[in-house]
Amino acid sequence: MTELIKTPRAGETLPVTAGKRTNPLANVFDELVRFAQSRSLFMLHYCTGCGAIELPPAMTSRFDMERLGIQPMVSPRQADILLVTGYVSVKTLKRVILTYEQMGSPKYVIGICSCTVNGGMYWQSYATAKKLNDYMPVDIYIAGCMPRPEAVIAGLRELMENIRQGKADSWKDYYRHYDHYLGHQQRLFGETWQTPTDVISEARHYGLFGPDTLGTHTALLEQHQKPLEALEMKVDIPELTARR
Ligand code: SF4
Repeated sequence: MTELIKTPRAGETLPVTAGKRTNPLANVFDELVRFAQSRSLFMLHYCTGCGAIELPPAMTSRFDMERLGIQPMVSPRQADILLVTGYVSVKTLKRVILTYEQMGSPKYVIGICSCTVNGGMYWQSYATAKKLNDYMPVDIYIAGCMPRPEAVIAGLRELMENIRQGKADSWKDYYRHYDHYLGHQQRLFGETWQTPTDVISEARHYGLFGPDTLGTHTALLEQHQKPLEALEMKVDIPELTARR
């Protein structure tokens, strides 16, 4: 739970504030909220690589992650955790970034499989992104080729504990260091890369706009950004067109 923070104007930066509040009752309330958050997590599993095959056993009757309060969710808007389950091809990474940006904060990323850590056995491939952490902040890695369901559950429990203790806040890095992440994305996809999400405004909204939010790469983004065009349905029936 965060206090209301003054939204900075364009070009203005605010110091990063963290830690305990002065009112002890507010701290108790914050701890209660964090406890509730850590016990009710919805997980969007983006089945990118072969590691996805270990997810069904982890969430069904034998290992049963639902007893921890973790359930699968199909939409990024209602999910807390983005689970990337293996190597990410360059083409897929665009969708993974778009999915991540659509999730509401606070949000957490788990990289499952060695391929998300350093490229794994595809470290030499021209078609895969090597370090997931270059493109979005990762909270926990679960290494292995592929990791067993026990390891997946152990990783999720560690994340739950980090959320309860208020340590799982890497999502804030995406706003504070947006220029860094965007730079890596542009290096892979080209300088015209953009998503429909306005991360810079979100950074201001969450009070996380800092000196590293903007930079040379966000300047390129502004240069190339096109306004989203409204979807238009065009009916191309010759008889109808002739009658008009
Ligand atoms: S670490 Fe192994 S199992 Fe996991 S995605 Fe890479 S190759 Fe597949």
